[in-house]
Amino acid sequence: MTASRSCAAGPERLDASEGPRAFVYTSNVDGQFQKAGFDAEQVHEVHGSIHHLQCSRPCNETIFAAGATTVDIDEQSMRARAPLPTCPDCGALARPNVLMFGDFGWLGDRSSRQDARLHAYQRRIAGGKLAIIECGAGTSVPTVRWHCEQTVQRDGATLIRINPREPEGPQGTISIAAGAKEAIDAIDALLPA
Ligand SMILES: [Zn+2]
Repeated sequence: MTASRSCAAGPERLDASEGPRAFVYTSNVDGQFQKAGFDAEQVHEVHGSIHHLQCSRPCNETIFAAGATTVDIDEQSMRARAPLPTCPDCGALARPNVLMFGDFGWLGDRSSRQDARLHAYQRRIAGGKLAIIECGAGTSVPTVRWHCEQTVQRDGATLIRINPREPEGPQGTISIAAGAKEAIDAIDALLPA
């Protein structure tokens, strides 16, 4: 697990045949969890994804896959060169379906559907023994950090907070002051093969 600002939660005792054993909640927008092999149905990208586009106006609610879309960058000016991706419906500029600061045009439907799947997962595992592994979720944009703490409070989960600078947490938090990969590798090495 190399992505930052993310957490994965899963109960210890759950029959694998009953469904997924873990779910990823992340503010990363780069699709790296799916690339690493996590089932896309078990990932909630709370701030959207650069692999999806939407109309910049927006003229409608459509969110479409970026697919092979590429944008050529002038590295001197760091500005994008034409042709730029466009909305298939109105021809206006297309933009990443990513929530930015002060962004009132972001379409959150895809993220909302992921959120609904996360809630269904949480209902299914209710009463189980839940562990949350939080990686690199700092306090400057604390979306993931708050989500994990709320889940601890509501579901009685154990929070393992991996953060090189801000590993502290509510009472009962297992704080690991290290980078995510270093900590995950160390935990992995201690687990039975
Ligand atoms: Zn449009």
